[in-house]
Amino acid sequence: MEINFFKITVIALLLPGIPVLADATGAADDVPKIYVVEADAPNQAVLTALLNSDFTIDNLSGNTLTLYLDADEYNQVMHMGCSVRVIEIQSRVDALTKATGYTTPDDIASLFAQYAETYPELCRVYTLGQSVQGRELWAIKITPAPDVPADKPAVKYIATIHGDEPIGTELCMFFAEELLAEYGVDPYITDFLDRTIIWLVPMMNPDGFVSYMRYNANYVDLNRVFPAYPDDFTGTWFDGEPLGDAGRQPEVAHIMRWSATNHFSLSANFHSGALVVNYPYDNEPGIPSGTEAPSPDDSLFQYISLQYAMHNPPMYNSEVFEQGIVNGSDWYSITGGMMDWNYRFMGCPEVTIELSDTKRPLPSSIPQFWADNRDAMYAYAETAHIGIRGVIRDRNTEAPVWAKILLAGNTQPVFSNADFGNYHRLALSGAYDLSFHAEDYISYHVDNVMVNGGTATRVDISMSDGDINGDGVRNGADVQMVVDAVLGRPVSYNADVDGRGLSATDIQAVINKTAM
Ligand SMILES: [Zn+2]
Repeated sequence: MEINFFKITVIALLLPGIPVLADATGAADDVPKIYVVEADAPNQAVLTALLNSDFTIDNLSGNTLTLYLDADEYNQVMHMGCSVRVIEIQSRVDALTKATGYTTPDDIASLFAQYAETYPELCRVYTLGQSVQGRELWAIKITPAPDVPADKPAVKYIATIHGDEPIGTELCMFFAEELLAEYGVDPYITDFLDRTIIWLVPMMNPDGFVSYMRYNANYVDLNRVFPAYPDDFTGTWFDGEPLGDAGRQPEVAHIMRWSATNHFSLSANFHSGALVVNYPYDNEPGIPSGTEAPSPDDSLFQYISLQYAMHNPPMYNSEVFEQGIVNGSDWYSITGGMMDWNYRFMGCPEVTIELSDTKRPLPSSIPQFWADNRDAMYAYAETAHIGIRGVIRDRNTEAPVWAKILLAGNTQPVFSNADFGNYHRLALSGAYDLSFHAEDYISYHVDNVMVNGGTATRVDISMSDGDINGDGVRNGADVQMVVDAVLGRPVSYNADVDGRGLSATDIQAVINKTAM
């Protein structure tokens, strides 16, 4: 399968701006070269075959795919009858010079250290762990009193999961700097941070960035190796499915553990190579690539995606994507992406934001990207405040409860924050029937909650484990107390344990707990 390599070389050398092939520079042969190509499929059958292949697809426009191929794969695509143009050949050779002008992992480390020292009351800096080559995955949490659990939604932005798509890193750094510098100065930003926790991971794939390539240092595409539904999981983290971090790429495992030990209400991850907000699902079993795969929150996802796109004029005015948004599977399907995992498994809505048709624009254009995306980043984060929110506590101890929150007619749960009991169920205007479920507690129901746009409707809940008198045991005395209440005897306690009003269902629920 080496026969076409000379041909590739010739094509590459004929194109202006293509770096000299690594072979010619004497680089080690065991360093894989990655060909970034545009391939025109000659017909629908070939296009479908490519979409269902294992090739790394990065974009699809008409019948033209942007692909990341090794030499063998390049030959296969040629043999499928595609017309192929090499856009770029990625190897370590030119890495450092090409990255110049962008924020580096070392820059992030020193800027974050500076922020932590200058704004101790506003931020905390963490490393989530190390990359394959030992670089830190830096994270910053920004909100007043960052160590104190609070009734606020946490919103995260993650950038540069693909090392050759670094614009998102720049946006995260601008965003961090503005939030920190303007808190207490700018009234909007002050209010925004008083209501919201912001987490930023500006560079998830530092090895890829430094090596000027999409993949991590093991040549793995990090946005294809998160646990995938339904092969790796069918339920949720809350419902007791294992996290599945063992054996993952280290960068992916760090993000998974961080996502599981913190509570996030909304998320986005930044890429480049297109200009669009891509929303779940990226993949739904049984739905072919190129066909829409709506999630149970499809209208909500369209709304929050539009909040980003409409504040980014070049994106909103896209000639490729109507209003600058697209369903992931409708565009092209991927499995093992972070977005679907975060939504399906952690119950955190996430979108994938493509920032630029050019993967790595000239560094001189970075300020313009910040100008185009600044308002969009705030507007998107603000959507964490729509829908229904509240705090879930134990009826006796007032301890926060880690609970699952379901909307009737919607199979996708969200979860409360175990540290404070707060939950933030994003939802559009309408009337909703809610149910709350937690281990060892009696499920609680609240019907007909009205959401009227704007800020979230508050529904605080106290859940009962059936121990009505709070003496630490669930027994006949508790059942008798509920019976008394249901019979209408004057009582000084709340015996409506299931939220459905005082009835026989409360008695049955407590009896069920005493039998446990
Ligand atoms: Zn990407």
